[in-house]
Amino acid sequence: MSVAIWIIATLLVLGAMLYHRSSLRVFTLGTVVMLGIATGLSIFGSTTLTVLWIIAAVLLLPLNLGFVRKSVLTKPMLATYRKIMPEMSQTEKDAIDAGTVWWESEVFRGAPDWKNLHNIPAPRLSAEEQAFLDGPCEEVCAMLNDWEVTHEDADMPQEVWQYLRDHKFFAMIIKKEYGGLEFSAYAQSRVLQKLAGVSTVLASTVGVPNSLGPGELLQHYGTKAQKDHYLPRLATGEEIPCFALTSPEAGSDAGAIPDSGVVCKGEFNGEEIIGIKLNFNKRYITLAPIATVVGLAFKMYDPDGLIGDKKELGITAALLPRDTKGMEIGRRHFPLNVPFHNGPIRGNDVFIPLDYIIGGQEMAGKGWRMLVECLSVGRAITLPSNSAGGAKSLALVTGAYSRIRRQFKLPIGKMEGVEEALARLGGNAYLMDSVTSLSTTGIDLGEKPSVISAIAKYHMTEKLRVVMNDAMDVHGGKGICLGPNNYLGRGYQGTPVAITVEGANILTRNMMIYGQGAIRCHPYVLEEMEAAHLDDAKEGLRRFDKAVFGHIGFVFSNFARSLFFGFGGSVFTSAPTSDSTKAYYKQMTRFSSNLALMSDVAMGVLGGSLKRKERVSARLGDMLSYLFIGSAVLKRFEDEGRPKEDLPFVHWAMQDSLYKLQEAQIALLQNFGGVGALLKATMFPFGRIVKAPSDKLDHKVARLLMYPNVARERLGAGQFLSERGQYGYVEQVLRDIIAVEPIYDTICKAAKKRYTFTQLDQLAKKGLELGVINAEEAALLERAEEGRLKVINVDDFAHEDLLAGRGARRHFEQQQAAVAKDSEQDAA
Ligand SMILES: Cc1cc2nc3c(=O)[nH]c(=O)nc-3n(C[C@H](O)[C@H](O)[C@H](O)COP(=O)(O)OP(=O)(O)OC[C@H]3O[C@@H](n4cnc5c(N)ncnc54)[C@H](O)[C@@H]3O)c2cc1C
Repeated sequence: MSVAIWIIATLLVLGAMLYHRSSLRVFTLGTVVMLGIATGLSIFGSTTLTVLWIIAAVLLLPLNLGFVRKSVLTKPMLATYRKIMPEMSQTEKDAIDAGTVWWESEVFRGAPDWKNLHNIPAPRLSAEEQAFLDGPCEEVCAMLNDWEVTHEDADMPQEVWQYLRDHKFFAMIIKKEYGGLEFSAYAQSRVLQKLAGVSTVLASTVGVPNSLGPGELLQHYGTKAQKDHYLPRLATGEEIPCFALTSPEAGSDAGAIPDSGVVCKGEFNGEEIIGIKLNFNKRYITLAPIATVVGLAFKMYDPDGLIGDKKELGITAALLPRDTKGMEIGRRHFPLNVPFHNGPIRGNDVFIPLDYIIGGQEMAGKGWRMLVECLSVGRAITLPSNSAGGAKSLALVTGAYSRIRRQFKLPIGKMEGVEEALARLGGNAYLMDSVTSLSTTGIDLGEKPSVISAIAKYHMTEKLRVVMNDAMDVHGGKGICLGPNNYLGRGYQGTPVAITVEGANILTRNMMIYGQGAIRCHPYVLEEMEAAHLDDAKEGLRRFDKAVFGHIGFVFSNFARSLFFGFGGSVFTSAPTSDSTKAYYKQMTRFSSNLALMSDVAMGVLGGSLKRKERVSARLGDMLSYLFIGSAVLKRFEDEGRPKEDLPFVHWAMQDSLYKLQEAQIALLQNFGGVGALLKATMFPFGRIVKAPSDKLDHKVARLLMYPNVARERLGAGQFLSERGQYGYVEQVLRDIIAVEPIYDTICKAAKKRYTFTQLDQLAKKGLELGVINAEEAALLERAEEGRLKVINVDDFAHEDLLAGRGARRHFEQQQAAVAKDSEQDAA
């Protein structure tokens, strides 16, 4: 064996062991075997062999001898680690401890086992849940007129409120034993998707009581008496809840609320008791103006030690009935013309008994932990589902509109520029539904996925913003002129609400996704942190030693994997499928290894300052997000039986996600100095490997949206598309337009003239005159024309109909004065 062959063989053997994450023992054995071969075959001279054995012994012996390793290496490492470890506030600790990690940790760790993804059960609705979607949910969608709600009444009609109460829409999360529906997270998501396709006010009003708030908090932490009192009333809608955390001085930094509750003696119901004196000023609180019970977060203090030794107990959550003396509630904010109930709540020296605390006195000070735990579930359901539902309806209606609306004698959807926007709508709608399905499946399997919920909240609401803009662009003036015929404008106005609430998006992207992901998903970081905090020095050293050397091996392994993939190794990686999705699995595995390596390099180079390097954190978060999103898309395709008609959507969603993933990796490396350049040479030695969706693919996706077909039907599955609603009407007009196109051709051919595709009713007359169509076809042409005009026309108003607020009041007063003057004159 020549020297060159031995070197290559050794690199391959050691590289393969690193690739497969072999243990230190196995790696040492491999090194010894290769050196043994070199010695046995006398590949090197005796001096070189001796040097090689000495190097191996110096490097590997201390690592393999636990007691030497701990005292010589681990001890000083632990001391340094303790010095550089970033400080963490209690609220940050609570946020990291809250919730669980699931599939996202597999893609974070660099070597996802795709079989595990495929083994996750596909989401299913129970018969009861399906019946609810087909019955009450469909019905309430038909009952609502969004224009009346948003423009005329600034509220939903009383019969809709009553219908929601009667059918327990506010009780999807409440257990059956308390009279609730106890729906799965997946079912809740499907309900919200449907409602969001009809009205933002409806979806928010139903979403909030089913998300983070009194219902959820009581079920998890309430005392028996609190549960027995409130839950049945919340289930029937007798009580309407809201949850008040945000203050004027504390929005994103909610842990810094200045609202206080001081333990003291006071009078309550005529008796002197120990209670809490509250002072608070809350704003932006959804449902507050009509809430009957307020969940209130405040900081609790016990300066006189009336209930224990602790003077500062921390954030606490209590439930205050609406009529609590001293609480000001009822005024409304006006969120971007989408008038769901939202407003401030204030209180000065409001005295409440201790048993108003959710969970009773023993839960005093545990409010933040309660909130972040519940948020890790709620945040994955409400806003992502509302966004996905919005996107699905938008994709369908915009596809239909682009086929109905013609300019330059062509349906506008056939113009390449419009195709680009339609492709984003179709691809993103498929992707968004995939993500809500996978994340709610996780919740139904018992996870409290705090990282996934941040990913889903951020990306679904951002993608809604993208597709909302696309839908508006394709509709042109039709989307802009508000009125009963505009089915887009209010949704467009409401989009930033979803971006801002439950963790405003810039913060969510820059701090939360990777901030929690890095610690929770990493196989060793949390263990290192916990070990470093242990008071028992021996146990701390033992655990830190195990974690830190596991971590070092992990970094070497990821380096080997990234290098291997960078130089074309992806070809040899296994994938669980053999069709056109195979390449996506391989690319995801490659990008996953890159993320694992980059994450450790970023933590190693930046240490504690990584927390302030938000753009690094944001890009690492994007990588993790797109790995999760891509997994969700592939999983959906698998779960639905790999229908080949859906492939354009799958290809678009995967190519867009992988491209964005790649761009996040390259952008991070380009902004990471010399280390970044080195890593780029390792990971992308031949430059970019993934392309954004091509024009050809955009064309295919756009076409799918423009005519009825099974892929389009699956894309819009579960949305409210009955003809009783606006979107359903547009669907009907699309079918009519497609049906009359051959009739139109026949008439043009017979008349030897290419008519414009307008005034189809006149064309019907022409066809009858020429004797080339029958009465039924003429009727179809007339109906198509009526529908076409309804779809493309917009509303206009008398000046006074547009007056609002003071203008409307002034107008009303002027009218009243004129009437009074007239009657005076009549009387005179
Ligand atoms: C319509 C509506 C309904 C709401 N409903 C409720 C409710 O029911 N209950 C409730 O308690 N609250 C509610 N909120 C409050 C909501 O959660 C807050 O608006 C949100 O937390 C952001 O706070 P802020 O608006 O004060 O923005 P700010 O905190 O002032 O933030 C402004 C911008 O700075 C960014 N930012 C802040 N800190 C960082 C950081 N460290 N890094 C990067 N970027 C950062 C934010 O992302 C944001 O883009 C609601 C808000 C609205 C508008």
